Amino acid sequence: MENLDTIFASLLEPKKIVITMHQKPDPDAMGSSLGLFHYLKKMGHDVTVISPTNWADFLKWMPSCDQVIDFESNRLSSTELLKKTDWLFCLDFNHLGRTRNMEEVIMKLNCKKILIDHHREPQVDFFDYGISNIKKSSTAEMVYDFIIDTGGEDKIDKNIAICLYAGVMSDTGSFRFSSTSASVHLMVAKLKAFEIDHPKIHTAIYDNFLENRLRFIGHVLSNRLEVFYEYNTALISIPKNDILRFHIKTGDTEGLVNYPLSIQGIEMAALLIDRDEERKWSFRSKETFDCNTFARRYFQGGGHYNAAGGGNKLSFEENVKNFKSALREFSIQTTTIKK
Ligand code: 5GP
Ligand code: MN
Repeated sequence: MENLDTIFASLLEPKKIVITMHQKPDPDAMGSSLGLFHYLKKMGHDVTVISPTNWADFLKWMPSCDQVIDFESNRLSSTELLKKTDWLFCLDFNHLGRTRNMEEVIMKLNCKKILIDHHREPQVDFFDYGISNIKKSSTAEMVYDFIIDTGGEDKIDKNIAICLYAGVMSDTGSFRFSSTSASVHLMVAKLKAFEIDHPKIHTAIYDNFLENRLRFIGHVLSNRLEVFYEYNTALISIPKNDILRFHIKTGDTEGLVNYPLSIQGIEMAALLIDRDEERKWSFRSKETFDCNTFARRYFQGGGHYNAAGGGNKLSFEENVKNFKSALREFSIQTTTIKK
């Protein structure tokens, strides 16, 4: 993978560009993709954003989100677009498996593949150009840097500012994680110059659910939470029946994994959801527990040090069992879980 700046000169010639992100995009994946979309369009490129799957309702207010194509429900037309593209920007993921069913299509493409991402251990052999920086707060911040580095500061407008703000706000836990560097605040100061309504953005993402979701959270915190004080860990495991009973849809479980971290002494929280196609894991830690290594080693996943995910096709019960044995093994191996 060559440095991203290798492509800067050729950005001046109009191209067909597709931007994609990880499946079930979060605000950073969608915000960074749409921020880049608006910028590249202003530069005169023919740009399309394709998401590997559908996305949560709380992202649908983002400027031009209605133009994003869902690969799963538009396979033929998205595949045609992908085959014709000159460049493919891959944002907020670094392993092709994160694009689910799109993987087999993008693996065969001859176009230039460009990575902009902040997760650990990128699959560098797939990408032609790119930047992978785990110190960055968000992919949205990296898109902002890309705009500045390509001399496009004067092209930033309110739409770009809104999309990038939503991404960085969400990936920094509303500016509280340690990744919230001085450069994040400097960027936000610049974005605020476009008169973005930041309380409204926060509300659109976090206070935008239906009643059933709140009742579902009450139910799972009461009935599906196990606390393992000896490992400073807690697990919320949600069987399929709960998902059906409360009519849970894409995005409704976002943020749920964080609740157990509010318990004194809990260093790591895990969330297991029994989905149709797979058993999906989320892991979060406060400080010294390495979620990325844990997810990669035991649950076919990865991510960041303090936030990672994974998934597999094993049964729900096997996953719970594997989690408990992984916890024992991992804590002995690493002693990062304080006893
Ligand atoms: P979440 O728990 O919100 O789904 O994801 C937390 C972090 O881990 C995100 O940065 C996400 O990109 C990453 N992640 C989530 N699921 C997976 C997965 O299955 N594989 C990998 N490699 N990363 C994941
Ligand atoms: Mn991100």
